[in-house]
Amino acid sequence: MALREVVQFPDPRLKQVSEPITEVTDEIRELARDMIDVMYDEPGIGLAAPQVGASVRMFVIDTDWTDDGNDRNPTVVINPVISDREGRITWEEGCLSVPDYQATVERDATITLRGTDLDGNPIEEHAEGLRAVCIQHECDHLDGILFIDRISRLKRSLYVKKRKKQLAAEQA
Ligand code: ZN
Repeated sequence: MALREVVQFPDPRLKQVSEPITEVTDEIRELARDMIDVMYDEPGIGLAAPQVGASVRMFVIDTDWTDDGNDRNPTVVINPVISDREGRITWEEGCLSVPDYQATVERDATITLRGTDLDGNPIEEHAEGLRAVCIQHECDHLDGILFIDRISRLKRSLYVKKRKKQLAAEQA
């Protein structure tokens, strides 16, 4: 089966606030499976539902996998909520929806993530470092926020210009 396409900036779907998931339907399970496939294929360490055009509050994450494919351990998180934010950390971030760009972003250093899995079991995870950064990045997607919305206005506008040129060249 063909992989779902990753929605890319400046697609307006990336700016939408996603809806809570009230019931884990077959459609949601299929979406989760597809998101995991896309994450490993791209490759990435996290993917939020809006990045494949689904405006629902779910993301997948796997911050430890390597390319040999033997240690994949994806976590699917439904209706995530972040609490117990402490400290600050800066990290060089990129995003599958923001092509050809990385920038340093400041976020909370340690967090607690709560949500549920596909079987309705509660998830509670304390995260730090890359894992905490990635969780905050994916939760941002569910609120229509990209990492380029968290960098300086100048840096953002330089990227937007570059991206517009790139898109114009693709269409030419
Ligand atoms: Zn992203």
